[in-house]
This record gives sequence, C-alpha cells and structure tokens, in this order.
Amino acid sequence: MLYRGAGRQASLHIAISGGAEYDSQDPHEAPRERLHQLPGGDLLVAMDERLEEAYQDIIRRNAGEIEFHQAVREVLESLGPVLAKRPELAERKIIERICEPERQVIFRVVWQDDTGEVQVNRGFRVQFNSALGPYKGGLRFHPSVYLGIIKFLGFEQIFKNALTGLPIGGAKGGSDFDPKGRSDDEIMRFCQSFMLELYRHLGEYRDVPAGDIGVGTREIGWLFGQYKRITNQYESGVLTGKGLGWGGSLVRKEATGYGAVYFVNEMLKVRGDSFEGKTCVVSGSGNVAIYTIEKACQLGARVVACSDSDGYVYDEAGIDLDLLKQIKEVERRRISAYAERRGSTARFVPGGNVWEIPCDIAMPSATQNELNGRDAAKLVKNGCIAVGEGANMPTTPDGVRIFLDAGVSFGVGKAANAGGVATSALEMQQNASRDSWTFEYTEERLAQIMRDIHRTCYETAKEYGAPGNYVLGANIAGFIRVAEAMEAFGLI
Ligand code: NDP
Repeated sequence: MLYRGAGRQASLHIAISGGAEYDSQDPHEAPRERLHQLPGGDLLVAMDERLEEAYQDIIRRNAGEIEFHQAVREVLESLGPVLAKRPELAERKIIERICEPERQVIFRVVWQDDTGEVQVNRGFRVQFNSALGPYKGGLRFHPSVYLGIIKFLGFEQIFKNALTGLPIGGAKGGSDFDPKGRSDDEIMRFCQSFMLELYRHLGEYRDVPAGDIGVGTREIGWLFGQYKRITNQYESGVLTGKGLGWGGSLVRKEATGYGAVYFVNEMLKVRGDSFEGKTCVVSGSGNVAIYTIEKACQLGARVVACSDSDGYVYDEAGIDLDLLKQIKEVERRRISAYAERRGSTARFVPGGNVWEIPCDIAMPSATQNELNGRDAAKLVKNGCIAVGEGANMPTTPDGVRIFLDAGVSFGVGKAANAGGVATSALEMQQNASRDSWTFEYTEERLAQIMRDIHRTCYETAKEYGAPGNYVLGANIAGFIRVAEAMEAFGLI
C-alpha cells in the first residue's frame, strides 16, 4: 500500500523511477528534486511532446503537489490521440487552462475543543472548472488534506462530472481537521466555523459541496444549518448529501457504492460474465465500501473482506452487512470490532494488506494510492478479473498499467464512482422542483446513468484504438465535453 494509516504519522511510501524507494513522514518533506516522481515511474506511458511540455510546466508551477501531478499525468497520457485527431482543441491552450483552477480559496478555521483549548485548522475550496455548470464536489475532513490532495480531487471531479452528462462543474474542498476521537460537539463547532468562511463562496448556482472522507449526512446537517443561519434563507440546493427529512434524496447514501457495482457489472457483461458467485474484496468500510458490499451481495457475489486504516477483516462466510452497518454507521467504531462480535468465521488482521486476499473482483473504496503495483500483480496472480475504483485514484500508475496489460477489466474511479455525484445532481433537481422521488425511480435513474457512462467510455476507447481501456475512454470523453464548452465561451 502506498499510503497506509491516517494522519501526519502515516508513512508515505513512494517507489521512484529506477526501482529505488524511499519513505517520508509527510509529502511536504519529500526531497524537492524527487517530488515529480510518480509511483511506478518506470511504467509511466510516454506522452506526446506538447503534452509533456505542458506537464513539466504544471509540475514547476505546482511544486510538491504530488497527487495533483499524478492525476494530471493520468489524464494527459490519454490525450495525445485526441489532439492529433482534433487539433483545434489544442489551439488556444486548452490543456494549460483546464489544468489551472478557476479559483482556490484557503482559509483559517478556528474553533475551541471540549477542554476550552483553541484549535487552528486550514480550510480549502478549489473551484476548478465551471464550464458545464456550478462547481460541484465533496468536502474531505482528514489530517492528510493539503492543497495537492484537494487539487487532485477537484481535477478528477471535472472529468467525472462531465461523464455523468449532467450540468455540473468540478470542485473539491475540505480541511486537515481530524474528526477521529472528537466529540459530536467538537465536530459540530468545527463545521460551523468552517462554514462561517466557506458560505460566501457557495450557492445553488455557484458552488454546491457534498460529503467525502470524514463528511457524511451528520456533518452536512451541521454545515447546512450554519449556512441557513448565516444567509437567512432555506437554499436546499446549496449542499447535497442532506438527510431525507430536510431536502435529501433517496439513494444518495447508497449511490457511489451501488454505482461502482453497476459499472463493474457492465464491464463483466462485456466479458460475458456477471457478479453471480464471484468472490469480492472491498477496501475501506465507510460510505462507499458499505454500499458497494450491499449491491455486490444483491447481485449474487460473496464479499469476504473489508478494511479501515488499522487493518482488515476477513470473513469466510461473507461480510455480515447488518453487523457492519451497526458498527460503522451507528456506533462509529473501528473495523476490528466487527471480528470481535462476528464469531468464528471472521478474523481481524491488524496492519494487514487487504489485496493479499484472493478474489475475482477487487473494489478499492478507501483512499488514493492504496493499491500499488505489487498489490496489482498479486491480484492478477490470484485470478482477479475486474477492478472497480470506488475511491478516487486508489490505484497507483504502475498498478493501473499491470491491470491493463493483464487484460483485467479496470473501471477507473472517475467513471466507476461517478454515481455519487450523479445522484447529487439528481438531489439538486429534486430541490429545484420542490419534489422528492421514490427509491425505485431514483435508483433506476442512477443505474441508467452508470450504463451510459460505461457505454461512453467503452465506445470512446474503441474509437481511439484502445478497446477495453476505460482509463483512456473516460479521460478522452470527459475532456472533450469540457473542452468544447470552454471553447464556446471564448478566452475566459
Ligand atoms: P468515509 O469517510 O465514509 O470512509 C473512508 C474509509 O476509508 C474508512 O474506512 C477509512 O478508514 C478508510 N480510509 C480513509 N483514509 C484512509 C487512509 N489514509 N488509509 C487507509 N484507509 C483510509 O469516506 P467515503 O466512503 O465517502 O470515501 C471513500 C473514497 O471514495 C474516497 O476516496 C472518496 O474520495 C471516494 N468517493 C466518495 C464519494 C461519496 O459519495 N462519498 C463519491 C466518489 C468518490 P479510517 O476510518 O480508519 O480512516
């Protein structure tokens, strides 16, 4: 795993070009000359000369933001054939413009903990691209958050949102605030202080955040309450992921996990296969992981493992979803508690690497760079046929290459996990029309969107001479939609 554990204590383990490796306590402390080296450097795809030049410039101008470099590189590596076929898109520096956020806000968040001590955190909102609609993307509260992470997530979000076909631009935000071990009151006070600055940058037609790691319905409630209080208006469409009683949408909670499974199901259909009888491994045990497990089981799979940053649980009888939800959603405890309560079929492996478990389908659903080249090789050796990225950029570039070379159906995050933001856009539609749809109707809309995204990626990859390469298909299809809108607006 590239990035294990949580917080500043977590070790960032980077494989650099040439096979050498080093460990650093923190991305910010990595030696400057090495910062542009991405995990699995040897396996990076060579880029078209103009794109390489643009990429080198992006590295220079965004020094130290290694996750952002990685996300940009992955997209640019796909775009050579587009620029060859449609040179007009490269004409007015569209690449340079798309890689530069429209606006970046960084702010101080001051709050008092339960002992009365003053705490200072940093808040971020990167409004990356509004060519297709209001800025849209989640908020992440995690101690590892810094500008490079928010920018990588915001950049991914542009293309993901474009793939949904819905009218939403790309953004991301969050804070280095660590909710772990904090009381409900402390988290509420933090949310209120965070919104006291953020509110001025938001609006139903301007910027619409949602949740991400560390931000669920409870936090969205505190954020929405504070926004409502400051602005003195009930603007439901300003945040998504709301509770059902106050403007939320059915299926939003389930949407990212369900959507990822729908996407993998479409990839399996292309192979003449299905989830029925398959063994799955899911990483993480948060929102995305739980509803990935639920839908995979509904489609006939057996999910044998999931994890958190302390380790993984293996349950030979299949994960007991009711118990998992009770522990993670209700009691908010660590995953080890699952094994303690489950009995003899389950064991907890502290610090274990979940990708060592043999499976047919792997669904990384925790965080970025959690599945590296070694893990990918192991999964391939163990017979894995499909990977669906529920998380954002969970597979390192060398891992992606290994999967593609081995013929594994690889559902890249910006396509496979787009169901969450798509359903957020459906929540915005319901808010705008003062309506609420049924579970069945909303789920069918989500399923249709995921089928459409799959078809778009599949057909685009075929059109550009790389059949089955969903990474290329997603990057090209997303890019074209955004680039065409940007061109229409002139030089802004
Ligand atoms: P949650 O906070 O609900 O859950 C995150 C899970 O991942 C937890 O089990 C957590 O374990 C684990 N995790 C987080 N950080 C690390 C880390 N550094 N190392 C190891 N494990 C870690 O978040 P979500 O389920 O909402 O998000 C998971 C992923 O899915 C993220 O990449 C997010 O960006 C992506 N995503 C989420 C969407 C959504 O709708 N929520 C939409 C699209 C993508 P622990 O408790 O130990 O930290």
